[in-house]
Amino acid sequence: MTPISQTQKKTDLLALTLPQLQEWLKERGEAPFRAKQIYNWLFRQLVNDFSAMSNLPQSLRQRLSEEACIGPTVIRSELHSKDDRTRKILLELSDGKLVESVLMLYPPIGESSSRATVCVSSQAGCAFGCTFCATGQMGFDRHLSAGEIVAQVLFFARELQAAPWTAAGLPGSAPIDHITNIVLMGMGEPLHNYTNVLQALRILNSSDGFNLGARHMTVSTVGLAPAIRKLSQENLQINLAISLHAPTDELRSQTMPVNRKYPLTELLAACKDYIATTKRQVTFEYVLLSGVNDTAEYAEKLAALLAPLKQFAHVNCIPVNATSASYQTPGPDAIRAFRNILFERGISNSVRAERGDDIAAAACGQLRTRFENSRKTAAIPVVSQ
Ligand code: SAH
Ligand code: SF4
Repeated sequence: MTPISQTQKKTDLLALTLPQLQEWLKERGEAPFRAKQIYNWLFRQLVNDFSAMSNLPQSLRQRLSEEACIGPTVIRSELHSKDDRTRKILLELSDGKLVESVLMLYPPIGESSSRATVCVSSQAGCAFGCTFCATGQMGFDRHLSAGEIVAQVLFFARELQAAPWTAAGLPGSAPIDHITNIVLMGMGEPLHNYTNVLQALRILNSSDGFNLGARHMTVSTVGLAPAIRKLSQENLQINLAISLHAPTDELRSQTMPVNRKYPLTELLAACKDYIATTKRQVTFEYVLLSGVNDTAEYAEKLAALLAPLKQFAHVNCIPVNATSASYQTPGPDAIRAFRNILFERGISNSVRAERGDDIAAAACGQLRTRFENSRKTAAIPVVSQ
């Protein structure tokens, strides 16, 4: 079955794998070999208009424009940070739902080359209600289709193709003209929308198309234990990140209601099985909430919790992006002290640099919140800086 976009009743070609596109063409009496040509136009040339597909017969181009579409989205606003290292878009889907995506550009550091990472949304809203998260406070609207997920990546890929980014103040570094990484860390819980997320990752991974390596893709989950087990069976080299955020059930259940369904013992057991099957390291994200989960006591507990996973566990400390008055970001001393305890206990860890603060704070969900608040009081603004 081929995905049909809801309102237009057109097939969204961004939601199809190459074999599915071949099948779709065959069903219409068209030559299946055209699929590779179309895939090339969509995912390599990055065109968003059938009329540009110059090696297709005019009749096929006409048919495609009548029966198919390339991505279902309209850009409602785009913001660039002052240093242009963070760009954020607000997309309006065909049914009016709004989601955010973010492009983060990293200059080359030492041996590593520059990176262009897209932070992708997997759902409109989120059903899991984590107390520190702007998306969690919106409630759940719906899953995104595979095409809606892929379209976010292609939007930024087209931007970089048209205007490669050069790291300011770093003469000699080659401009970056393509997407190097994607992270499913935008709005929504990717493993709650398992089928569409996996389909999108497979499409982006296809060597006939976008050809982004699985090792350059990261799925972040709130900790849906059965889905983590399922993912371990997919034979995919993607990176897995677990939103842990607390080392005890008592504290985790307070900030992350999902913990009542999948408590720590169950979550850690699923991670252990995932590691045993995939032999891949797992990242544990830990949003630091000042005075709540960032004390020495909690650092010790976190180290003890992850010790059995040995070198397969990495902690990513994330100073909270305060979305409401309820939480505060810890200062540099508190962050250092927390990390030192982890280091002393042999737990590898890093801290995520804050980004894009001048464009409505970096955490996803905040741009849509601001947009909707302003829509309540004024005509719809198209924000661009
Ligand atoms: N639902 C998935 C992925 C989206 S959230 C998940 O929860 O993992 C991506 C990451 O951003 C998660 O680790 C999430 O806990 C974190 N996050 C949410 N709100 C945040 C905030 N206000 N400040 C910093 N990180 C936040
Ligand atoms: Fe949903 Fe992730 Fe936000 Fe929790 S942190 S509410 S799971 S998007």
